[in-house]
Amino acid sequence: MMRTPLIAGNWKMHKTIADAVGFVNDLVPRVADIVHTDVLIAPTFVALRDVVRRAEGTRILVAAQDVAAERIEGAFTGEVSAEMIREAGATHVIIGHSERRQYYGETDESVHRKVNAALAAGLEPIVCVGELLDERDEGRAETVVQRQLERAFEGLTASDLSRTICAYEPVWAIGTGRSATPETAEEMHRFIRDNVARIAGTDVAETMRILYGGSAKPDNVLELLSRPDIDGALVGGASLQINLFHKLIEIQESLIKDTDKK
Ligand code: PEP
Repeated sequence: MMRTPLIAGNWKMHKTIADAVGFVNDLVPRVADIVHTDVLIAPTFVALRDVVRRAEGTRILVAAQDVAAERIEGAFTGEVSAEMIREAGATHVIIGHSERRQYYGETDESVHRKVNAALAAGLEPIVCVGELLDERDEGRAETVVQRQLERAFEGLTASDLSRTICAYEPVWAIGTGRSATPETAEEMHRFIRDNVARIAGTDVAETMRILYGGSAKPDNVLELLSRPDIDGALVGGASLQINLFHKLIEIQESLIKDTDKK
């Protein structure tokens, strides 16, 4: 089953509007000959519209970094609805990033509501799961990820799940410079796919893209992306620098070209 790989940059709370648009300006010509790999950028909310405008007609997809759990507009100060994100022209939204879980009280329950809100508005959710270091050390990594997946995907139809992307981001690997080994990551990606198969059937599981996230860089990504169940990367730090981000896209693209040749 061919899944189009995706290299996604999560800019977190970085870049002014001008910097964001400048980055996309530089990225556009560099992805002109990319045909096998999807490319996505998640800027801050304030830069979303401008980045969408600049990315229009190119290969670059645009995501928000979060979304309100409430579906209908109302008295929710500071929140941005899925409809509003859609109207701004983004097609995707990151949900349940570990920083939101750690610092802003995101729970499995709010992730579940946000995934539903995103899908209802026609956005494709990128659902982040991943265990803490303690949980891994205690041998509970799979239990934790399974719980996160089951709650996030509860009640979703096969059609919903076919529009959903998953990102495995072990919390101990995010922003630490210590990425998971390809073996550890592949093992968890397989586990995630098996769980999706159990929830929604093998067809959905085989088409779902599962991204790896956690200190992905040009010098460690080749081995990760070569694994059969790793369908791309969600990248924080290395997505902020055009040369590094472009390199990651090129590495992913070259892998697919090599497979085509075989
Ligand atoms: C992320 O925040 O999604 C992430 C993977 O960050 P980094 O690449 O910096 O570890």
